Amino acid sequence: MAPLIDPFARAITYLRVSVTDRCDFRCTYCMAEHMQFLPKKDLLTLEELDRLCSTFIRLGVEKLRITGGEPLVRRDILTFFRSISRHLESGALKELTLTTNGSQLARFADDLAALGVRRVNVSLDTLDPAKFAAITRWGRLDQVMQGIRAATKAGLRVKINAVALKGFNEDELFSLLDWCAGEGHDLTFIEVMPMGEMGEEMRLDQYWPLKDLRARLAERFTLTDLAERTGGPARYVRIEETGQKVGFITPLTHNFCESCNRVRVTCTGELYMCLGQEDMADLRAPLRASEGDELLEQAIRAAIARKPKGHDFDYSRQKVAGQVSRHMSHTGG
Ligand code: SAM
Ligand code: SF4
Repeated sequence: MAPLIDPFARAITYLRVSVTDRCDFRCTYCMAEHMQFLPKKDLLTLEELDRLCSTFIRLGVEKLRITGGEPLVRRDILTFFRSISRHLESGALKELTLTTNGSQLARFADDLAALGVRRVNVSLDTLDPAKFAAITRWGRLDQVMQGIRAATKAGLRVKINAVALKGFNEDELFSLLDWCAGEGHDLTFIEVMPMGEMGEEMRLDQYWPLKDLRARLAERFTLTDLAERTGGPARYVRIEETGQKVGFITPLTHNFCESCNRVRVTCTGELYMCLGQEDMADLRAPLRASEGDELLEQAIRAAIARKPKGHDFDYSRQKVAGQVSRHMSHTGG
């Protein structure tokens, strides 16, 4: 079976799949408070999600990340994990992982670990309960902390993802770092991206460039750039004084698209070849058109053949350029 290679000679080995657009939080940078969610009939069923992921795995995908919306609020999500974990057992899939807000981890951590999940990314922007409630609108910090503890206890490695937000968590840079060091969690900061219609002013107000964050870190610590790459936009430094590794996801101040190895599928089966572009391919129609996977495979190959070189996000002229209209919860972060 010919692997998936795009026009820029990048092998596509990493798939991120959003299994729902729904969420039990309403983070201000991600969703509007009153979101219109998709009708259930538009969502891929768990069986369709399995067929889709299995086809990608057959075509060479080795790493699968389940996301959303909040993946753990999708009904019967364990059924999906149970079934897809067969590809871990066969060795075709090297890693099965998820990105979660952590609210449901206390309930699911043991089962996920038993099904072969080894690592989870938990999104956490603040350690202050009141600020947490404000930024997530509906979330409770203690519930997430319980989830994180359950994950660690189940043997899952936890990576904390924090969105860098000016005027919000700037003052928590070092406390987040200390807490992660104490708990043994890796930490990655993400630049806020122009996804969904939030108003240009709010975007620019929130934007805390990671080069500024890094400069703040460097005032206190010695930072060494690490060569480690995961094919994504993350870059890592080691803090020499503590040995801690910190990641930066900087789609805006830097552009690392040349090594991109990933594509994303939404919960309705839209394949986005680039997070920052509008072009997509519908995989739901070929999935539903026949019981075999031939049409699906053709549609995937045709889409990969037009994966663009990179995104066009740009804040450098003090205005938001290259904005895409989808919310992050739609494409899956
Ligand atoms: N609900 C899960 C969670 O919060 O981890 C998974 C989906 S969420 C859309 C995935 C990641 O996207 C989270 O880390 C979140 O902080 C991030 N995110 C959401 N909107 C964003 C934005 N506009 N810019 C940058 N990151 C964003
Ligand atoms: Fe939900 Fe995650 Fe978006 Fe927050 S970032 S609203 S937890 S999908």
